[in-house]
Amino acid sequence: MSVLGGPVGGHYDVAVIGGGISGVQIARHAAGRGLRTVLLERNDFGAGTSAATTKAIHGGLRYLEQYDFRVVAESVSERRYLGLAAPHLVQPRSFLLTAYDWSAPRAPVLGAGVALYEAMAWRRNAGVPKDIRSPRFRWIGKKALLTQVPWLSPDGLTGAWRHDDTLNIHPERLLLAILKSYVADGGTALNHAEVTGLLRDDAGAVRGVRVNGHRDIAATVTVNAAGPWVASALGDLATTAGVRVRQAKGVHLVTRDLGNRDGVFVRGRNGRHIVVNPWQGKTLVGPTDTPMSGSADEAATEVEDINLLRETLDSVSATPLVREDVESTIVGVRPLIDDGSDTYTSSRRFEIRDHAPTGLPGLYSVTGGKWTTGRAMGQKVTDTLIRAHRGSLPPTRDFDSRHLDLSTSFGDYDTVTAAFEAAAARVPSADLPRDTRIHLARLYGTEHEAVLRLVVEDPRLATPVPGSSDILAQAVYAVTHEAAETLQDVLDRRMTVGTLGLVRETAARLVAATVAPLLGWEAERRDAEVAGYLGLQAAETAVLDEAFAPGSSR
Ligand SMILES: Cc1cc2nc3c(=O)[nH]c(=O)nc-3n(C[C@H](O)[C@H](O)[C@H](O)COP(=O)(O)OP(=O)(O)OC[C@H]3O[C@@H](n4cnc5c(N)ncnc54)[C@H](O)[C@@H]3O)c2cc1C
Repeated sequence: MSVLGGPVGGHYDVAVIGGGISGVQIARHAAGRGLRTVLLERNDFGAGTSAATTKAIHGGLRYLEQYDFRVVAESVSERRYLGLAAPHLVQPRSFLLTAYDWSAPRAPVLGAGVALYEAMAWRRNAGVPKDIRSPRFRWIGKKALLTQVPWLSPDGLTGAWRHDDTLNIHPERLLLAILKSYVADGGTALNHAEVTGLLRDDAGAVRGVRVNGHRDIAATVTVNAAGPWVASALGDLATTAGVRVRQAKGVHLVTRDLGNRDGVFVRGRNGRHIVVNPWQGKTLVGPTDTPMSGSADEAATEVEDINLLRETLDSVSATPLVREDVESTIVGVRPLIDDGSDTYTSSRRFEIRDHAPTGLPGLYSVTGGKWTTGRAMGQKVTDTLIRAHRGSLPPTRDFDSRHLDLSTSFGDYDTVTAAFEAAAARVPSADLPRDTRIHLARLYGTEHEAVLRLVVEDPRLATPVPGSSDILAQAVYAVTHEAAETLQDVLDRRMTVGTLGLVRETAARLVAATVAPLLGWEAERRDAEVAGYLGLQAAETAVLDEAFAPGSSR
């Protein structure tokens, strides 16, 4: 268990279960309103569904097809607020909505949808730094499209609508940046801290949580934001509380760079929709969307998931995807609200549930939503519980996060380029190439200076981590300032190396050797961490090998 903020103890106004984007945003808003808040995450911050996204901060163009105007309107606003709060981590990405003569809707109808989508986002460039503003949508003819997207098959292709959404450049670091804003506002966050029970008073009201089976944390209000684990986090009380979540498994393939610079919405001949999204020198292909029962802990990429993505992509590609194209996979489970429709068309809106009517006053659960709308969820949940518990919570202050920089953002610059240029000139005594400085500025915002200072103190920490733009100083910072406890915390959620496909054994060993003394690991623990990490990768590789094996049924 590691702590950010703190110290831990005494009575809290709000305890939040779950350190995904929902829990982090709820905690941030509660602390922002002046409430004494603690967040408990059983694994690592952002290790659940929030790490498995398509990396889009988006309005959700496809939700227009379901007439879900409310979600689209909210999402396009939230997209802008996040972009304003952290322009170094949230930037425009153009997407190509492909049109075919064999599939509906045809190009004119798609164009009308894109026009409506953009009209709903009419304020999208207001206040946004000059160099990351979005142009208007436009039509790209077939010939130009085939040049831009080298793998597309010309069969039946008529062209594509090019429009802008935004890219969540590194969701794990953005989540950490939001978490740090929460801590800056007085919040406390614990990772590797599992809520194993609820504390109840004589009348049955929920009065806090038990952590890791032994530590009690008292709180006036408890908010369950455990994503797909929203029921299991309540243990035996889940049935009493009546918490339900619909789980949809989503898998992406991480491939070599397939060559398209814009994201491409693929509409496969099998009727499936996926995105082929350029990502840090690689391409993300996905996601799938399949209903899942059982524990989200068991979610794993299966041969069927890989084959579904291949079938969809190959149906519109000039050449089929081969094993050598694919490096790894990412899997996550969407915690959807149960609105009776199938998981793909199910609304991405969120729901806040007060459990007082089922005999558990003081407890709230949230389900649904998107990474993009986490801020709105945080604000609404906090408003709801302050209204309901006015008598038992202390007086609160105003907190409008819509126009607030994150605590590590660069602040007022005309352009993001200017912010990066200024950042690259800081701490000149750190012997690092310009590209590495920009990489660090992007990942850490203003805190990149602290990472640079580690290099000044110990120049060996400038050593690059193989297979990435990361350096060893980041591993040290992860442990000393960012509550990382395991090798996976460091590689996958503090650095970028673990998010870009397979991590090389040399990289895993180098990073493990760097953090071992800081975490008090003896050689045995250090080697076990490396073996555990590489073992997970090997299991994933085996599934990919099986899916692509000659004769494997598709
Ligand atoms: C494949 C895929 C692609 C997606 N793409 C996008 C996208 O491009 N853009 C977008 O906006 N949204 C996207 N989404 C949706 C988005 O990722 C989710 O809506 C969001 O991440 C859910 O966040 P959460 O905090 O509710 O859940 P989670 O991130 O899962 O967080 C819940 C946390 O609770 C913790 N927890 C569980 N039990 C306990 C316990 N007992 N005690 C303490 N902690 C506990 C878990 O460890 C976990 O970290 C995508 C989802 C998927 C699956």
